[in-house]
Amino acid sequence: MYFKDIKSLSHEELRRFLSDNGHKLYRAEQIRVWLFKLMMQAYEGLNVPAELCELLKTNFRIKSLREEIKTESSDGTVKWLYKTADDFPVETVMIPTETRASVCVSTQSGCAMDCVFCRTGSMGFNRSLEAGEILEQIINVHKYFSKEKQERTVTNVIFMGMGEPLMNLEAVHRACVCLHDQKAFAMGKGRLTVSTSGIAPGIAELLDRNTPCHLAVSLVAADNETRESLMPVNKRWNLTELLKAIDNYLERSGEWVTLEYILIKNKTCTKTAAENLIRLVKPRRCKVNAIVLNGNENPELQAPSEQEVNEFLETVRAKSVQINIRNPRGRDILAACGQLASIPCKAAI
Ligand code: SF4
Repeated sequence: MYFKDIKSLSHEELRRFLSDNGHKLYRAEQIRVWLFKLMMQAYEGLNVPAELCELLKTNFRIKSLREEIKTESSDGTVKWLYKTADDFPVETVMIPTETRASVCVSTQSGCAMDCVFCRTGSMGFNRSLEAGEILEQIINVHKYFSKEKQERTVTNVIFMGMGEPLMNLEAVHRACVCLHDQKAFAMGKGRLTVSTSGIAPGIAELLDRNTPCHLAVSLVAADNETRESLMPVNKRWNLTELLKAIDNYLERSGEWVTLEYILIKNKTCTKTAAENLIRLVKPRRCKVNAIVLNGNENPELQAPSEQEVNEFLETVRAKSVQINIRNPRGRDILAACGQLASIPCKAAI
C-alpha cells in the first residue's frame, strides 16, 4: 500500500518500510514519537541518520494540509479551512467547553451522501482523506492551543465534519487506532466518536475491525418516508436495515449508541414524529442527541419554534427516553452541524 503522508502508516508498516530499506527497526518508534508525541511537522531536527531522513523525505510528506482561513466564533468555536496538497478543501472545527475541547474532523473533502439539510452534501464529493490528513487536523488544533498559549488539550475527537466516515473506513480505522495508541495520542476509546449517516455494513465492519471508537448514527428522522426525503442513504439502507445493524452493534459491543436527531419544523418536530422516535428508541440502549436545524435557505427546511421544541422534548422524556438537546455552536461562522462547505463567512473576510 502506498501512502503520501507518513502519518498514514501504521507502526507495523513503518517498521516494514525501514527493514525493507536496511534500517534499524527501533527507528520506527523514534519517528512516531517525533510525529505523534512531539507533533513535529518537518523532518529537520529528526534525530536519525541523514540517509534515512532523506529516504523518508523522498517517500512521504510530513505535512499535508495548508491553512487557508481560520475563523473564530463569538462562542469560542474555531473553524479552519485547509487545502490538501492537491488543492481540495477540508474543514476542521474545535468546540471548547469548560472541561473539554472537542475537535470535529473531516474524513473526506466534500461528501457524496447528499443529505438535503447539509451544506457539505450540496458541494459534492472530491476525495477521501488519508489517515495522515485526518490526524493532521488534530495535530493542528494542538498546535493552535500551544501557539495561543491556551492551557488546553484536545479531549475528544468527533468524526463528523465533511464526509461520511464509513465510506472511508480504512483511513478512519487507522486514525482511531493511532489516536488510541498509548505511544501516539493515547486517547481513551470513549473520547473518539465515529458518526455515520447510516452505512449499515460499515457499522458491522467497525466491530469486525475492533476500531476503538464510540458509535453515533445520524438518525435524523424516525420514519422511512421522512428519512428518505432528507437522506438519500435511506433508499439504500432503510430504517429496518439500519436498526438491524445498530441492534447487532449493541449486542456485540455491549455499549450504548448515540442517535443524532434533527428537529425540523413540521417534519421531525411533530407529535407523530415524537411517537415514532419513542417507538424506535425505547427498546434499545440508545440515547438521543437532538439538534435544532441550522439555518437553511430551503423554505421547506426551517427550525421549529422554541415552544415546538419544548413540547417535543416533553413528549419524548415523558416516556423515559434519554434525549439531550445539543446547543448549536459556531453558527455565526458556519461551523455548526451541516454547515461545513468551505464557504468563508463574514467573520473571516
Ligand atoms: S450530513 Fe454528513 S453524510 Fe450527510 S451530506 Fe452532510 S457530511 Fe455527508
